[in-house]
Amino acid sequence: MRIQESFCPRCGAPATDGICGRCRAAGTRWLLPDARVTCIHCPTCGSLCHGATWTDASCSREDLAEQLVRSALHLHPDLTDIRVTLTLRDLSTTRSLADVQVTGTLYGQPVEGAAQVEIAWKGEQCDRCSRISGGYYEGVVQIRADGRETSPHEREVAARIAVQVEDTLQAAGERLAFISGIEEKEGLDIIVGSHRMGQVIVQQVVGALGGQCTVHPKLVGERDGRPVYRITYSVRLPRWKKGDVVWTGKEYLEVRETGGREVKAFDLAGGGTKSVAPVPDWRLVGNVREAMDAVVAYTDRGVIGLLDPVTWSSVENRALPWISPREGGMLRVLRDTVRGNLVIVG
Ligand SMILES: [Zn+2]
Ligand SMILES: [Zn+2]
Repeated sequence: MRIQESFCPRCGAPATDGICGRCRAAGTRWLLPDARVTCIHCPTCGSLCHGATWTDASCSREDLAEQLVRSALHLHPDLTDIRVTLTLRDLSTTRSLADVQVTGTLYGQPVEGAAQVEIAWKGEQCDRCSRISGGYYEGVVQIRADGRETSPHEREVAARIAVQVEDTLQAAGERLAFISGIEEKEGLDIIVGSHRMGQVIVQQVVGALGGQCTVHPKLVGERDGRPVYRITYSVRLPRWKKGDVVWTGKEYLEVRETGGREVKAFDLAGGGTKSVAPVPDWRLVGNVREAMDAVVAYTDRGVIGLLDPVTWSSVENRALPWISPREGGMLRVLRDTVRGNLVIVG
């Protein structure tokens, strides 16, 4: 006769290995919920605090409550087929209560349990908002132009780049990449929360508008035992910008590319592009961005007759080899107020 070796020592049921599943499940505390969890959030920007670090919240208050409650349940690692159902009610603006039902399988036995978890909502200013409200900043990107004022278009482009860089860096997790101010001074001052952000803005502004940047760090103190520098990024946009139409004393040129010592310019009389070194007595007529539409009244041997878009008088321009206008069509023109004529730019 063969003796069955394995019986559960608790209940006597057959068991393959010591205590049977039912007795093991019954003797295991598989649900050990915290009675209360605290959620620290920033009332200004909605960021969340986990331990000592803040993150931008990417979910709703309900989703967040559910995540917090789930993490407060402390389920036994052997529990499988877990299903948690949760009903949430607000007790006050700062407290919510979650009723939780949990079912699962433990050592082959179905188990179920219930718990109540209170959520305390606590508002606290986050690292970023406290820096901003405390006037903290690490740099200023100063945008100026060489020998002229910055144009509204340039200021607009620079401001738009700054806001985009802020979005991109923050989406990539750089919380302290913030703009704490954009001020129109003689040009544009962009006040930034981090050095890296200043560098990225400079790179993109120079990429879009040309010019050069010099960097001026200044030691302003210490933070956590390390020196803190405030950096001025001094961006100097080129004297001539893309689209500028200039009178050189001999001819009209449209600046197409700037950057180096020379500019690439389009000859508005003869057509064709050339590289020329700008000289100080070039005179700015305007920018093609500001050009007006003028109606082509007639074309005749070597002559384009235009209607002046402001005075409606008829003016004659020399025909240009790079353009073939139709009568009744439109051309883009700038007014040279000094010489008193219209300059055809396209
Ligand atoms: Zn048993
Ligand atoms: Zn905040």
